[in-house]
Amino acid sequence: MKKRDIARRTIRDDRFDLCIIGGGATGLGCALDAQLRGKRTVLVEAGDFISQTSSASTKLVHGGVRYLQIAAASLDYGQFRMVRKALQERRHMLEAAPYLAHPVELLVPCFSAWEQFYYGAGLKAYDVIAGKARIFPSRILSRRLTLERLPALRRDRLFGAVTYADGQFDDARYGMALAQSFARLNGELLNYTRVVDMERDRDGGLTGVVVEDMLSGERFSIAARVTLNCTGPFSDHIRQMANPSLPSRLRLSKGIHILLPMQAMRGDAALLIPKTEDGRLIFALPWNGSLLVGTTEDEIASDEEAAANAKEIEYLLRYVNRYLDMRWTPADVQSVFAGVRPLVASAGNGNTQRLIRDHEIEVDRRSGLVSVLGGKWTTYRAMAEDGVNAALRVCGDAPVPARTLRYPLDGSEGYCSGYWQKLAGRHGISDPTAEHLAQKFGARSQEILSLIESDPSLAAPLCAGSPAIAAEVVYSVREEMAQTIEDVLARRIGVQFHNLQQARAAAPAVGERMAVELGWTAQQTTQAIAEYQARIDRLLRLAGLPPASLGPSAAGPELDLKGPGEDHAGLHRSH
Ligand SMILES: Cc1cc2nc3c(=O)[nH]c(=O)nc-3n(C[C@H](O)[C@H](O)[C@H](O)COP(=O)(O)OP(=O)(O)OC[C@H]3O[C@@H](n4cnc5c(N)ncnc54)[C@H](O)[C@@H]3O)c2cc1C
Repeated sequence: MKKRDIARRTIRDDRFDLCIIGGGATGLGCALDAQLRGKRTVLVEAGDFISQTSSASTKLVHGGVRYLQIAAASLDYGQFRMVRKALQERRHMLEAAPYLAHPVELLVPCFSAWEQFYYGAGLKAYDVIAGKARIFPSRILSRRLTLERLPALRRDRLFGAVTYADGQFDDARYGMALAQSFARLNGELLNYTRVVDMERDRDGGLTGVVVEDMLSGERFSIAARVTLNCTGPFSDHIRQMANPSLPSRLRLSKGIHILLPMQAMRGDAALLIPKTEDGRLIFALPWNGSLLVGTTEDEIASDEEAAANAKEIEYLLRYVNRYLDMRWTPADVQSVFAGVRPLVASAGNGNTQRLIRDHEIEVDRRSGLVSVLGGKWTTYRAMAEDGVNAALRVCGDAPVPARTLRYPLDGSEGYCSGYWQKLAGRHGISDPTAEHLAQKFGARSQEILSLIESDPSLAAPLCAGSPAIAAEVVYSVREEMAQTIEDVLARRIGVQFHNLQQARAAAPAVGERMAVELGWTAQQTTQAIAEYQARIDRLLRLAGLPPASLGPSAAGPELDLKGPGEDHAGLHRSH
């Protein structure tokens, strides 16, 4: 990826075929697709890449067993079609970046023979719908085998289980791999750049966008033949900026996740709690050494802040303690994050839980804006294909087939299973660090390790208890356009998603390294560290969790938490 200043100059002075607004899964997917079809493409993102919904998912690459359940119960062909499409895309996602996505076996506990039959039949249907894209077949497990697979499961009344396969991935890093793949094909992209207005011709057709650089305050125009709106939960805002007469289409639904210590699980099986009192599913998934539990679902207004609260955390803990032999309390929660599902409203669907997670491509005839609405992470590639097809039609260009299917994403070439063992021992890094680098950066880990050759101090850990090292900070700034401490600790190296205490403790080390790379003054560095720590403290306070530390900002005055264009520690949707 280019340095941010250089990218900004190129974007300001150039002309583009496609301008993509939004650097989440949808926008980055569209950008890669368009560039691969030979179209000169630019992407602008108001905050950091992948900083909103796309880094707050359950991290499942799935068709969605719940949607299949809804499809069967209500004979809803739309839900069924969506599950089938997602199962085909699941295969692509697993193959395109094997270091970031892998199969996972989920265990559904059953408390009677009837339940086992019911779930067993449903999951067989899931296998059948996947067809050739099936990962491995679902299985019926006896009570004994169930407890062998998941010893922490509550034993009382347990009859057995059904297991089935889906995919699991690292959403933030998957997004970064899309961004890097796009940049390496000479695509242009810029974070902290918000679209604030549109450029139009005399007939009202869009000829580009006006953006504001959220770091420098500079405003400039970007010329493009067609504009794609890929802003997820913010899509209505952009649609109405292009054409104020368009009615709103989205329903927004918040979901939170918590991270718990994995050691207590005594095993690595993933659990699906098939039914809550409010008719939901809850997942408890091993994820890079922690247990990821989620999610909730509550409709929220477009101007409401999406932050996790104590009630939602209590809800998740209640279910996980009910199914597992645990007594977890809020004090055990290592981290928490919240995201907003951008669901496309359809007539007659009162409840957001029942709204189809399918996508829709809307072309506004007046302005020519193409909006890619709704969808799921799993179907990002198919959404991009449909979105770019529509954009080419708006431009009047001859159709060009998409080339994203089986296109290996950045970091995949040269990666193989057992890759981390090859890294271990080099440059004095530990096994956990080698594993962490391989899981986050794939074959690009070599570039991080080569930084240590010229500066051995970069092998230093960022904080006690975390495998992350200083070289990752340097790489994130030089190669991945990281601009803030949160960009590094959350999206680039993932410490924040796993453990807020560790992220808070790592902030000074990250800040000092970033200061050298970005030329921050001592005062700017101190302020960046204090602001980041205050964000973490506020996130904990809103979630009703114990404070991270008694460091200065925990006790100090409340800081303005919203930097220009920045979104923050799990507090999404600052637009
Ligand atoms: C709780 C939860 C769990 C989920 N779990 C799963 C799962 O397990 N598997 C799955 O497949 N899917 C899952 N999803 C769905 C999936 O995460 C989303 O469908 C997907 O991430 C949406 O991506 P997006 O790019 O459309 O939106 P976003 O990721 O929100 O990206 C939109 C971007 O547009 C930017 N933007 C907004 N306004 C502007 C502007 N004016 N100028 C420039 N940029 C702008 C925003 O800053 C943002 O980064 C889940 C969603 C939630 C909320």
